[in-house]
Amino acid sequence: MKEIKFIEEVVLEGRRVLTRLDLNVPLDNNAQITDDSRIKSSLKTIRYIADKGGKAILMSHLGRPNGERLENMSLKPVSEALSLNLGKNVIFAQDCVGNKVEKIIYELQNGEILLLENLRFHKAETKNDISFSKKLAKLGDIYINDAFGTAHRSHSSTTGVPKFISESAIGFLIKKELKFLGEIVSNAENPFLAIIGGAKVADKIKVIDKLFDKVQTLIIGGGMSCTFLKAQGFDIGNSMLEKDSLNFAREMIQKSKEKKIDLLLPNDAIIASSLDGNSTRTIKLTEGVPKEWMILDIGPLTSEIFCNAISHSKTALWNGPMGVFEIDKFSNGTFAIAKSLAKETEKGTLTIVGGGDSVSAIKKLGLSGKISHVSTGGGASLEFLEGRELPGISSISKS
Ligand code: AMP
Repeated sequence: MKEIKFIEEVVLEGRRVLTRLDLNVPLDNNAQITDDSRIKSSLKTIRYIADKGGKAILMSHLGRPNGERLENMSLKPVSEALSLNLGKNVIFAQDCVGNKVEKIIYELQNGEILLLENLRFHKAETKNDISFSKKLAKLGDIYINDAFGTAHRSHSSTTGVPKFISESAIGFLIKKELKFLGEIVSNAENPFLAIIGGAKVADKIKVIDKLFDKVQTLIIGGGMSCTFLKAQGFDIGNSMLEKDSLNFAREMIQKSKEKKIDLLLPNDAIIASSLDGNSTRTIKLTEGVPKEWMILDIGPLTSEIFCNAISHSKTALWNGPMGVFEIDKFSNGTFAIAKSLAKETEKGTLTIVGGGDSVSAIKKLGLSGKISHVSTGGGASLEFLEGRELPGISSISKS
């Protein structure tokens, strides 16, 4: 990655600081924010800009309005939440570009904070449209990107703006993500263990492949483990199977033997014939899953084996649930992993959790503060771990 500039290296006082954040929070039908973690993780950068006497001009997207101005995707409730969290007024602009916005900015005083309306109310944003990038860039003297959740996207407000503004830098949140994820990529303390779960192997092929060069233990759980089990010759009944990924699974099983990597797959499982969870059974996978039944969670023995492996690691990375954790009866495996990671963090293991579902399992158990680093970007963290350049970050080089 090119050398990048961080927020502490730039002068903010008296300047219009155009700041891209990820304030894409979930809202309920009454426009109430149901999870404010993204707001909370943006506060450090906002406070810093205001304290340094910059004029903070904040921009973000919310949801997928596809270029339409939709009331239920307005950032107005976010401006109110920001005001409360910061203990100071956050001005809200009804749009993110145009004369009215420019007038508000013209009157903005040093240390004041303005939040612009949802960037995606303009279709041009996600198209990385040059003229839209120029309109946004015109609003600032300097650009700060702190939206890790969208750093893997090339949009007007992420990769477009820095081309048309004289100075750009990275905020505190992205800096923290780079520190922790960067450590995993280049400097992880061994034994390094990764736990990969979730539904689709295909989505995680590249990351699994990359991790094979780094880890000593690789745990595969969740729906995707069924393809690996099938590749090993087990009967998996009606479980999730990705035929196109069977060869990949076979290659990985072979590679693990050659490289002497401990590849841990489920041993026992919670199975059911339907997702309603009315009739479930725990079986050993050597018995084979009956025809109409599906593997929906790892079993208790597997949980124990996985948690024991975690307890022997010095670095542990987790992405993806062990089962259909949204349903109580199939959530034990996922929650066991979450609890085990929190316990090992306390003992000094570096633990990193990324990916929407694993993060929500951690939050559901109230364990966010007990994990070394909970990544704020599912897609972005996976792409980073795959070794790909994140355009929202690489567009901000020192040169
Ligand atoms: P992903 O987005 O690929 O990380 O997948 C997350 C989804 O995988 C969650 O919604 C889980 O319910 C689902 N999942 C986990 N394990 C299984 C399984 N054994 N069968 C079907 N779906 C699963």
